[in-house]
Amino acid sequence: MCPECDAELNIPADAMENEIIACPDCGAELEIISLNPLQLELAPEVEEDWGE
Ligand SMILES: [Zn+2]
Repeated sequence: MCPECDAELNIPADAMENEIIACPDCGAELEIISLNPLQLELAPEVEEDWGE
């Protein structure tokens, strides 16, 4: 389940730990912390840092 919106997620059969998947419902990016048991965490938002 998506930790953000509780939507059911289809984890690809070939998903790997540390892979980022996007929730189809809310669009949140989720990192697969662990596959067995399945643990998902919101991926840190990566913002382009263009510097000054
Ligand atoms: Zn979601």
